[in-house]
Amino acid sequence: MKVLKFGGTSVGSPERFEKLWPIIQSQKSDCHFVVLSAVAGTTNALVAIATQYTKGEIALARQLVQELQQAYQVFVDDLFVTTEGKEKGKNWITRHFTLLDELGNDLFTPAEERLVLAQGELLSTGIFHLYLAEKGIDSVLLPALEFMRINADQEPDMPYIQRQLQAMIDQFPTTTLFITQGYICRNSYGQIDNLRRGGSDYTASLLGAALAVEEIQIWTDIDGFHNNDPRYVSNTKPIAQLSFNEAAELAYFGAKIMHPQSVFPAQKANIPVRLLDTLDMDAAGTLISSAFDHTDEIVAVAAKDNITAIRIQSSRMLLAYGFLRRVFEVFERYKTPIDMITTSEVAVSLTLDDCTYLSEIIAELNHFGEVEVDDQQSIICIVGDFKRNKNGYATLVSEAVKHMPIRMISYGGSEHNISLLLPSKYKIEALRALHHRLF
Ligand code: ADP
Ligand code: ASP
Ligand code: MG
Repeated sequence: MKVLKFGGTSVGSPERFEKLWPIIQSQKSDCHFVVLSAVAGTTNALVAIATQYTKGEIALARQLVQELQQAYQVFVDDLFVTTEGKEKGKNWITRHFTLLDELGNDLFTPAEERLVLAQGELLSTGIFHLYLAEKGIDSVLLPALEFMRINADQEPDMPYIQRQLQAMIDQFPTTTLFITQGYICRNSYGQIDNLRRGGSDYTASLLGAALAVEEIQIWTDIDGFHNNDPRYVSNTKPIAQLSFNEAAELAYFGAKIMHPQSVFPAQKANIPVRLLDTLDMDAAGTLISSAFDHTDEIVAVAAKDNITAIRIQSSRMLLAYGFLRRVFEVFERYKTPIDMITTSEVAVSLTLDDCTYLSEIIAELNHFGEVEVDDQQSIICIVGDFKRNKNGYATLVSEAVKHMPIRMISYGGSEHNISLLLPSKYKIEALRALHHRLF
C-alpha cells in the first residue's frame, strides 16, 4: 500500500484534477490511500470568512461565502461532463456552502471557526470522489474526522488513529483506492480541529505510519526538495536524496514544501517519503529515507520567519549553576518551545516562534535580570555535513553574510546544522548570498 498526498495546487483546477488519476494508476501497488488538501486558495478564503464572522461582520462574511461558492460552481461545471455528474457535484458543494452561510445565524465560536477551516478538505475530497465515480472508477471516501485525532497536548493520538483506521479499512476488503482529507482532525474534546497550516503533509505521514505502508508520496507543484527557497532565490536545484534528519531540520526551519512535523511519523516507522511533481510525473523528485546521509557537503538552506529573540542579561548568571534551568522552566510552564540558544557568561539569548504567552514569560524572566525582546527576526538554517574535522564551511557561511547584522549564531549543536538569526528584512539577501557562496 502507498499513501499519495496531493497539495492545494495539485487539486487547484479541473485541469489539475485530471492529472491525478494517471498518477495513481501508474503506481505499482495493490492499494492506494489518497490524501487531498483543499483546492489552492480555499483555506485562505475560509480564514477570511472566519475572521469576518469573528468580528461580527456577518454580511461581509456571507458575501465572501457567496464569492467562494460561485468559484466552486464554475469548478464543478468545468470538471464534470455528464448532467448527472454536474448535479451531484453541485449538491455536494451546496451542502458545505449552506453550512458556511448558516454559521452567521447566531454567535460565532472558536469551535465554529475550526469547522469553517475544515470545509476546504471536505469539499475537495468529495468532489474528487464524485469525479472518479463519473469516470467509472471505484473509490471509498473515508472521513478523516472519524480516525484522525490529537490529544490534549495537540499531539496525534497514534494508537487511536491506527485502531480506527484499520477498523474502517477492514470494512472494505476489496477496495484498492481510499480517499481522505488532509489537515483536519478532532481534538481531545471531540471537536473539529486541524493540524495547522500545511498540515496535509502531516496527515499523509501519520497515515503512512499507522498503516505501515511501503512509501509515502507528497505530490506538489515543484520537482522535489530544492537546495534553497525557490520563492526568493533563482537557480535552486532539487536534491535527489535526503536523510530524515536533514529533511526534518529543513522543514522545521522553513522549507515550505513540507509541514514542519511531517517527517517524524515516517521516520519513526522508517517509511521512505518521496516528494514528486504533479506537473511532471516522470521527474525523479526527492527521496527521503534512513538509507542516506550527505557527507562532506552543504545540502540546503531554509529560512523561518516570525521569530522573536529574547535576551536575559544578569550578573547573577556569572559563575552560578542552576540559572539556565530556572530560565528554561519558565518556558516549560508555558509549553513554549525554544528553537535557538546562545549563551555568554552573563547573558543568554534564545528564540521562539510561538508568542502566545510572550508577555507572561517576559514578566517571569524579569525576576532574573534585564530582558530585551526583538521581534520580526528570521532563522536561516544551513544543513549539511559540519563534522569537527571539516574545516572552512563555517567560514564560508559567515563570509556570505558578513555585511548583515547577525543577532545570533548557533554552531556545533549538531554536526548537521548552522543557524543564524537576523532581522527578517535581511532574509532574502541572506538566502541569496548564501546560495551564491555555498552552491
Ligand atoms: P502544496 O500545496 O502542494 O502543499 P506548498 O505550497 O505547501 O505545496 O509547498 C510547495 C512550495 O514550497 C513550492 O511551490 C515552493 O515555492 C515552496 N518551497 C519553499 N522552500 C522549498 C524548498 N526548499 N524546496 C522546494 N519547494 C520549496
Ligand atoms: N489546506 C490546508 C492549508 O492550506 C492544509 C494543506 O494544504 O496542507 O493550510
Ligand atoms: Mg503544503
